[in-house]
Amino acid sequence: MAMRSVVTFHYTLRDPSGRVLDTSMGAQAVTYLEGAGQIIDGLDEQLRGAAAGLKTRIVVPAAKAYGERDSEQVQPVKRSQLPVEGELMVGDQFKTGDDSHAPTVSVISIDGDEVLLDANHPLAGIDLTFDVEIISTREATPEELRHGHAHGADGACSG
Ligand SMILES: [Zn+2]
Repeated sequence: MAMRSVVTFHYTLRDPSGRVLDTSMGAQAVTYLEGAGQIIDGLDEQLRGAAAGLKTRIVVPAAKAYGERDSEQVQPVKRSQLPVEGELMVGDQFKTGDDSHAPTVSVISIDGDEVLLDANHPLAGIDLTFDVEIISTREATPEELRHGHAHGADGACSG
């Protein structure tokens, strides 16, 4: 079986206009097991074999990041069916259920009792640019390979 690495890196994520969407700088670096779906596919693929100390820019097309926008994910619903108390505004985002995996939707428009909701991921349809610095890499432990995710520096399993 091919060796798989656990990689720790810092990143700054920008949209195609150069606007910073997210960064790990000044916060905790990200640690992941290669090929385990812990980070977006396009980034995982392009970081294969990267060595500690590498600083690089990686562009991930939308299809390999959060997917293309899907017009079927934009749907009208009745205001009374939404799990939101109080006033609803265009641009509001909320989860459609209590479970942590429930999709987040955005309000596109409100017309009387009819609310148009968009369930696309906010980054769907956007090509993402990552400025990456690899902090460290090491061989995954047998336990990490069994679990399908990276463990912390102290070997602790996060779930
Ligand atoms: Zn684990």
